[in-house]
Amino acid sequence: MRRRIWRGLAVVVLIASVGLFALVRAVRGPSNPASVSAAVPTRIAGVMVLDAAAGLVTGPADVVLRDGRIEAVGPAAGAGEPGLVLIEGAGLTLLPGLIDVHVHLASGTALPGPLALPETRHHLGALVLAGVTTVLDTSGPLDELRELGEATRHGDVAGPEILYAGPALTAPGGHPIAIFEAVLPWFLHDFVKEHLALPIAGPQEAQAAVAGLVAGGAHVIKVMLDDIPVHGPELDDPTLRAIVAAARAHDRIVIAHVGTDADARRAAQAGVGALVHLPYRDRITPETAQLLAREGIPVATTLQVWTRLTELLDRRAPLTALERRLAPQANMAALLRRVPELTATDLPEPLHAWFDVVRAGQPLLAENTRTIVDAGVTLLAGSDSANVGCYPGAALHRELELLVAAGVPAPDVLRAATASNAAFLGLDDRIGAVRPGFEADLLLVRGDPTRDIAAVSDIVAVWADGRRVLSLP
Ligand SMILES: [Zn+2]
Repeated sequence: MRRRIWRGLAVVVLIASVGLFALVRAVRGPSNPASVSAAVPTRIAGVMVLDAAAGLVTGPADVVLRDGRIEAVGPAAGAGEPGLVLIEGAGLTLLPGLIDVHVHLASGTALPGPLALPETRHHLGALVLAGVTTVLDTSGPLDELRELGEATRHGDVAGPEILYAGPALTAPGGHPIAIFEAVLPWFLHDFVKEHLALPIAGPQEAQAAVAGLVAGGAHVIKVMLDDIPVHGPELDDPTLRAIVAAARAHDRIVIAHVGTDADARRAAQAGVGALVHLPYRDRITPETAQLLAREGIPVATTLQVWTRLTELLDRRAPLTALERRLAPQANMAALLRRVPELTATDLPEPLHAWFDVVRAGQPLLAENTRTIVDAGVTLLAGSDSANVGCYPGAALHRELELLVAAGVPAPDVLRAATASNAAFLGLDDRIGAVRPGFEADLLLVRGDPTRDIAAVSDIVAVWADGRRVLSLP
């Protein structure tokens, strides 16, 4: 009798602990889908190599990786050397690791709801599995990003090199504070206010805010110039100029989220270093595009975030093969299940008004892209993942495809995601090219992506700092 009670109790404890484990997993979000090997000396033989700056592939060549660096590129490099792991490169193209200059690692892809938590650990692995080996986080918690950056740099965690802005400077109650309060559960509101956005009430607060971010390790300063939801508060020009001046005093550039042509123009006139969105609410004028070109202000278009949002509002989710492979499966399944009811969600009216603005702007995105390209503006590549339905890593691939669909030649799109992004980050002396001495951040794909951009997503292998990225089962 007593034995039976104990056995019953053991079963109850077992069920309870499995349940608890599942709960803890759910609360922490999905785990990292990747790991990295040690950096073993490697020879990739007979491979075509992307020359991103020139916009063409050359070769075939042999490429030797050692101690996290590209040691040699050329005919018969490393041939006959003992101890090199051999990778056959015939029919394949080797690219520099991709760079995404607009991500939010501490955000989530799930639909708003009680379990819409950040999926940071999952994002890190998904990014490198997609060949994205460097990212700029454009608003997130400084301390966490610094720690994550250390962990990926040392190879403790599979993930990209991480640069970051920390919390974005915005008007009190401005974007993204209002939107997060509208869509996230109440217990996350304080987290958002504290870590993702820093309200600035006027020019007198700029100096201290920027100094604090720089002391926390911020590589760039992010400002929000947009009213989300519609008619929300925005930073005024004197405050914006004070932020730019404070950033310059600390040798940092300011990157701007913009919504309209007018936002883009006043950002340029205030002296920001880059726009991390293309205007998505109205037409960008040739005059504004020429101003950006003249001032040398590059633009990360983020076509994919607006396109995905519009698709969701239209109750569609045409996911790419890479998204289906790399997205957190439970989130994606829930998204697809709930797509038919999406526009019926119980959100405040001003947010619905903003959704209408996004949807109305969708047909202008390709035209705006061509306007800035024709004016000679430098294109950068950024995805703005993670956002709802925007899966890190795969989202950058979608951005590249959308740019090509908008009329940008594939070689120029590849340059944006590699050489141009590297130069913008000030890292073009060590990443963004397949060159001896550069970091062994590499993406090996089938086919020739300069002819067909879809080839970038046909991934054979990825190395981050010479460590092979492996998919966990
Ligand atoms: Zn963003």
